[in-house]
Amino acid sequence: MSALHVHGMTTFDTVARAQTATISDAGIELAPHGRATIDNRGDRKVERVEQATAPKAVIGRVDEILKAHWQQYSPDGLAVENPVAADRHVRRVLGRLDIVEDTLGKSDHGEPNPAVPVNVGNRLRANLARHGQSVCREKAPQCGSCPLISFCKTGRSTVAETAGSAAVVDLFGGAGAMGLGFEEAGFHIAVAVEIERHAAQTYRLNHPGVPVLEASVENVSAKSLREWLPGLDTPMAVIAGPPCQGYSAAGARTIGDRRNLLFRHVSRLAREFGARTVLIENVPGVRRVNGVTYTERITASLRRAGYSTWKQPATLRASDFGVPQNRQRLFFVGVSPGVALPEVPLPTHVPPGDASSDRSLPQTVSLVERLKDLPSLGSGEGAERLQLSDGCVVLNSTAMQHSPEVVSKIKAIPQGGGPISYRRLDSDVARTLVAGHRALPVHPSEDRAITVREAARIQGFPDSYFFCGPRASQPLQVANAVPPPLARAVAKEMRASLEAAGHKGCWREW
Ligand code: SF4
Repeated sequence: MSALHVHGMTTFDTVARAQTATISDAGIELAPHGRATIDNRGDRKVERVEQATAPKAVIGRVDEILKAHWQQYSPDGLAVENPVAADRHVRRVLGRLDIVEDTLGKSDHGEPNPAVPVNVGNRLRANLARHGQSVCREKAPQCGSCPLISFCKTGRSTVAETAGSAAVVDLFGGAGAMGLGFEEAGFHIAVAVEIERHAAQTYRLNHPGVPVLEASVENVSAKSLREWLPGLDTPMAVIAGPPCQGYSAAGARTIGDRRNLLFRHVSRLAREFGARTVLIENVPGVRRVNGVTYTERITASLRRAGYSTWKQPATLRASDFGVPQNRQRLFFVGVSPGVALPEVPLPTHVPPGDASSDRSLPQTVSLVERLKDLPSLGSGEGAERLQLSDGCVVLNSTAMQHSPEVVSKIKAIPQGGGPISYRRLDSDVARTLVAGHRALPVHPSEDRAITVREAARIQGFPDSYFFCGPRASQPLQVANAVPPPLARAVAKEMRASLEAAGHKGCWREW
């Protein structure tokens, strides 16, 4: 038995399975070996805590997700009218997350809960109460739409088996862009694996009900994933966008970069799972890195795993699919015996100013059109949750703070000009968005870098997609993503092949 400290140094005799904890207005302190503070308003403190023990990090993740989740609806938090009743919800959620023992039924519900006293009153407590009231209900928890499921053994063990569903295993899932495209095509993301903490949080928040394992794909096997997620059956597809920095024109492009061979783990896991199809997405630079042709290596790896592939990967351009960006991506598709190779997706749109494309198609909306209803901001203005005068809310809309010297330099940069870290966007179609030095390109008409929201619009994300983590992480999450409309186009063709082969599945309709 260990003591659970709540609100300052007050001690309550209750069992804390995971660790000793202190909950106060300043955050949560967990102290199994000495004292460490989880205060999610200071990212450095979270980092420090994570170096100590993994379980401590769970509360940090839970707090971050609930804050972002409820902020969209209630930015000031929940007014707890009946703290005793609210604390029952808090204790239930913490119990199901295995952070404190859930002793519901063993105590007097009319008494304050010793694990969550009435005078704590912090943001996390309010958000936990709200979560317990509306999602993690006592009788019918909504695990299939819960953003906390990654941390919840209870939830993972109760989600429906994926057998018969159009299940997808998403490796190197990033912020969830490829998963979003596949969901929009009717697939069901059964599980995702992503090692970068903030990207994993973004995935969890925007894909509630999808368990996201924070781990290196290199260390994951089908067996270990099935142990983590009981009920995971043969997936319809294993999809992956392995890190591209080793191949990317914006990177060092060295042959010995270990990341260049991560695709082998995608083939390995597809084989271990017996997945019906597999998809690997990457940058055009994968064709040749200092004399080594990686396209052939990726194709050979898929074939060795038992999949038939296209002779060459499909090269798709985002602006042909309604995205105002000339980003190109390569798609390697493998199909198991009995499934025909899908068609290469045909363009759905005509890029602005492109006279050679099919004129019967709708035109891709120009970049300035995509941005025109977003607020005009100066350097350093805006907010992560920006409320406009008409009541609309714009997420991730904080403009980077530039010094007066940098602003005057930016003023002189014409559209399409400037160094890579301060390149001003063209008004019709952007070049491939990159987050140079973690900053995004310059706005086509305003003298500042574009916001994460503006970059997300240019990439084809919906406006409701919230990017978690500090400002240094968000641009990377957006810039590293495959545009969701591109992923959706490929996913639709893969679905058509699977359906033609008799794999009916249980497709989601949007
Ligand atoms: S996954 Fe289910 S049991 Fe776990 S916190 Fe969410 S709703 Fe509650």
